[in-house]
Amino acid sequence: MAKSEFIPVIGLEVHAQLLTRSKAFCGCPTNYGADPNRHTCPVCLGLPGVLPVLNREMVDMALRLALALGAQVRPVSQFARKNYFYPDLPKGYQISQFDRPLAEGGAVEFDCDGAALRVGLLRLHLEEDAGKSFHDGGHSLVDFNRCGVPLVEIVSEPEIESPAQARAYLTELRRLLQYLEVCSGNMEEGALRCDANVSLRDPATGRMGTPTEMKNMNSFRGVQRALEYEIERQSEVLRSGGAVVRQTLLWDEAAGEARPMRRKELAHDYRYFPEPDLVLLEVDPAWMAGARDRLPELPRARERRFQEQYGIQQQQAQTLCADRALADYYEVAAAASGNPVLAANVILAEVQRWLKDHDTGIGRYPVDPERLGGLLQLLDRGTLSTPLAREVLQEMLAGVETAEQIVARRGLAVMGDEAVLGSLVRQVVEANPEEVARYRAGKRQLFGFFMGELMKATRGKGDPVKLRELLQKALEG
Ligand SMILES: [Zn+2]
Repeated sequence: MAKSEFIPVIGLEVHAQLLTRSKAFCGCPTNYGADPNRHTCPVCLGLPGVLPVLNREMVDMALRLALALGAQVRPVSQFARKNYFYPDLPKGYQISQFDRPLAEGGAVEFDCDGAALRVGLLRLHLEEDAGKSFHDGGHSLVDFNRCGVPLVEIVSEPEIESPAQARAYLTELRRLLQYLEVCSGNMEEGALRCDANVSLRDPATGRMGTPTEMKNMNSFRGVQRALEYEIERQSEVLRSGGAVVRQTLLWDEAAGEARPMRRKELAHDYRYFPEPDLVLLEVDPAWMAGARDRLPELPRARERRFQEQYGIQQQQAQTLCADRALADYYEVAAAASGNPVLAANVILAEVQRWLKDHDTGIGRYPVDPERLGGLLQLLDRGTLSTPLAREVLQEMLAGVETAEQIVARRGLAVMGDEAVLGSLVRQVVEANPEEVARYRAGKRQLFGFFMGELMKATRGKGDPVKLRELLQKALEG
């Protein structure tokens, strides 16, 4: 794509489904995948005469998110009715928050292309979800299961300057939601949704263009592609002397293009007014303090601690902390192994490869972190060589034995007899005079070659620490 001469100005509105067991204003369950219209009751169907009751857990989860994002929580916030007609909105209005949202300010801090960025937040508010319509052949169907499911909407300032930044922002926000255990972050199931406001600024005049709104982006990749598409489209319009029309566009991932959906509504189109069926929402200092106490260590702080405490690389810390469960697993394995660097190396290589091959997460890895730690301890002490440790790990994956039990049962104790190892070293050195000469001439990488030969000669059972020592002496000699 040609580089745009305009500067993109992007703001994101993220809707995250809060992981409460029941809906925002009634007792219906919230789990995904039930048969259509099974999770409904008079309240979430909006039948006459019913009254909503606020779900405390919903507020508590949003509160923790607000605190983690450094937002200012209002001691008193208010629910409002957002009025619009839509077939999947049986009440004819959505309960949301308008001029007195739960929280304002704060920021999402994230890395993009090696730079640390900070995008400010406008507001964070609570609302309920609408239902879902299906259009099939000549008729339409509606499923109200999602009606009244609790959402938190996180609205960013228009401070994002590229599609890649938008993607990185979202990735970080999702990680935070998952660390806080307030949202599954599953975009395919609609638990995390993202709309974008996009406009272009002319750097010569400083003039801001008319924004459009992009909806229906169902993956991280989709967000990036849709924004690239829209920036290019608006650039074309402006280059050809036209004017961008304020509208809402629907992203079509399969076609790789966006279609106009409707004229974009403005706040006054919704005729917001305070929800008369709900009292003001007061968050007292004790509630706030309690929520703050229940915050876990946040992912970026954890990344820094991993580097300092365990002496691992930044990239390793980032990969481990990308998933809270993986980071938890690592910490237990590192402690059990007594060698955190080795634990990081093995988890990021062997364990990750297994997870990738089986297309699953660390929660389904058959070897728990204590057992893995036990194996690493044997490897670290030199009781097992790397090839033998791999072999033992294969057995551990298939059963429940500890590494020590497998080693004892199979008699896998390493060959540690110096006389035996010494003669093997001499044999290997004598058998490879050319490599010895090149090593002595400065080609130090050949050390690995000799170790490999020795491992072959001992069928992986030679004590690597002793072999290394003996080999060093022989080569230097
Ligand atoms: Zn209900």
